[in-house]
Amino acid sequence: MNIPMLDLKGQYKKIKEEVDSSIHKVIDSAAFINGPEVHSFEKNLADYLGAKHVIACANGTDALQIAMMALELKPGDEVIVPSFTYAATAEVVGLLGLVPVLIDVEPDTFNVKTSQIEAAISSKTKAIVPVHLFGQGADMDKVMEIAAKHNLFVIEDNAQAIGAVHTHSDGRKSHYGTIGHIGCTSFFPTKNLGCYGDGGALITNDSSLAERVRMITDHGQKVKYHHDIIGCNSRLDTIQAAILNIKLKNLDSYSESRYKAAQMYKELLNGLSDVILPAEASYSTHVYHQFTIQLPSHNRDELKDFLAAKGIASMVYYPMSLNNQKAFSEISRVEADLTNSELLTSRVISLPMHTELTPEIQRIIAQAVREFFGK
Ligand SMILES: *Cc1c(COP(=O)(O)O)cnc(C)c1O
Repeated sequence: MNIPMLDLKGQYKKIKEEVDSSIHKVIDSAAFINGPEVHSFEKNLADYLGAKHVIACANGTDALQIAMMALELKPGDEVIVPSFTYAATAEVVGLLGLVPVLIDVEPDTFNVKTSQIEAAISSKTKAIVPVHLFGQGADMDKVMEIAAKHNLFVIEDNAQAIGAVHTHSDGRKSHYGTIGHIGCTSFFPTKNLGCYGDGGALITNDSSLAERVRMITDHGQKVKYHHDIIGCNSRLDTIQAAILNIKLKNLDSYSESRYKAAQMYKELLNGLSDVILPAEASYSTHVYHQFTIQLPSHNRDELKDFLAAKGIASMVYYPMSLNNQKAFSEISRVEADLTNSELLTSRVISLPMHTELTPEIQRIIAQAVREFFGK
């Protein structure tokens, strides 16, 4: 038996003809860089998200870096980041000479613990980066309220939750990635909206910020060979944009497949007292980038090995919180209690989750988990 975490081949098969012809169209046109598909994809994604501007770039890490450059954050400025996230979120903070200030996450949603934000703010704090982890959005009403009060920028790391929708306290709905001053996302192949290589984008409703972002992605120039600011070279390939145009049309149905699979897991794993199932927040839809369960009984690694012996893949996102990572130990500031982040690193395990999962495969996986617990 071989049950992988992902089935990108199975997903491709269903859109193969359309994708193959779009790729060949780009090759025939030879407009490999900055071709018309890049602009149409930017427009299509902006329309889908209900945002004014989408600027494509080379990957999600670049998007975060470019966001911080465009907001003119300067070395020594502090940026508040949750300690339970993928390292890229804090890495760009360090790369730009900014100081990551680490705070904890909620034990049930894995997202930023908003009650710790204010105590982490100093006179140097300029921005906060809520990460919408595993497909579910952070409590953005609280984040935006605190940011407004303290005059902070909000940079959403939406690499894992594209398509998820936030319900504001007044009932309005917004796509995650469009709520903060700027949103960042990734089209890495395994993400919910993945291309067939690297890709990323920035999202904003602020037109002057969008103009700066666009300049930074293109060597700081607006007029060719007139470089007004220091930028970088960060582009989405035309071929990737052509693929993304096709996959974007399917994104809502992909999200639905993931959601259905998650509900199926919850049914199949129901009643196991040793397993904490993923929580769904009232203010966010969940697009299940990952289906992550918690094992409070400290036998997470044994379950992983048990599943592996049966040919069932699983992954630990993430085995270490940022405060314990060597790269961040010297440059970050930690003032909050990071108990939840540290506890989660020893408890979490993600089961196979993708658009091609079938109830049959899920039954095999759930049966194996039950067998591990003797149930
Ligand atoms: C994937 C990811 C990124 C980085 O995206 P890349 O395209 O791989 O550079 C950043 N933050 C989070 C939370 C991610 O999951």
